[in-house]
Amino acid sequence: MTKQTAIVSGAGKGIGKAIAERLAADGFFVYIVDLDIEGELVAGQLGKDNATFYQADISDESQVLALFQAVLAQHRALDVLVNNAGIIRDHMIWNMTTADFDAVIRVNLKGAWLMCREAAKIMKTQQSGRIVNIASRAWLGNRGQTNYSASKAGLIGLTRSLALELGKYHVCVNAVAPGLIDTPLTQRLKPEILEQLLQAQPTKTIGAPEDVAHAVAFLASAKTNFITGQTIYVDGGKSIGAGI
Ligand code: NAP
Repeated sequence: MTKQTAIVSGAGKGIGKAIAERLAADGFFVYIVDLDIEGELVAGQLGKDNATFYQADISDESQVLALFQAVLAQHRALDVLVNNAGIIRDHMIWNMTTADFDAVIRVNLKGAWLMCREAAKIMKTQQSGRIVNIASRAWLGNRGQTNYSASKAGLIGLTRSLALELGKYHVCVNAVAPGLIDTPLTQRLKPEILEQLLQAQPTKTIGAPEDVAHAVAFLASAKTNFITGQTIYVDGGKSIGAGI
């Protein structure tokens, strides 16, 4: 196998699917990791020389260890890890259960940390690699998302700290922070909420999953070897935060 290898979590649909498609088009062999069997369809469409599906829950340590063992059994190296899998359980804090908080932190933060740890062991040894964590503009603050916002703020802290640890091993670690993107996750929003969110961003448009994939492909490229610990917003300018 001469292709470079990438793992993309939550790649069965939405932003992760677009990232997997883009990395495959850029010449990577992509592990499409998802809870959902839909990932099998994505891998099938990309073809067996370009992608494979691996069903796993990234918040389960034993499943993450098995995933990395499977990748290493097939490939000489791991070039790119994209931590994209994420969930929401939105409520105002007075209506949010402890289970809502724990579920979001478990997948969005602990899951990404487990994946980073296993990738870091490999990339440190091989002295190369790229990790891209899909955070969210919501880390800056969103009503109804105390759990989600905290998980994504944690993911940005993880990104910055891991960039410090892996820099001297030629491994770059960055985050991409999307704003409102048209995926199955946001298609569940009530129309009036969606309209409010659209009006709050400078472009007044919703982003496409491919917009995020484009930024990830840039950070995953071997050419970006002097960019690390950064967060790139793909959010129609909402993170500017000034004016309407
Ligand atoms: P999505 O449409 O819900 O897709 C997420 C995928 O991840 C689903 O296939 C889901 O499987 C999978 N997944 C969830 N938990 C998992 C786990 N524990 N292990 C493995 N796979 C898991 O979400 P999206 O909108 O594409 O969002 C992707 C990422 O972008 C998330 O991290 C999200 O927080 C972030 N983001 C999204 C937006 C947006 O506007 N869409 C904005 C900012 C940030 P199931 O469907 O079976 O649960």
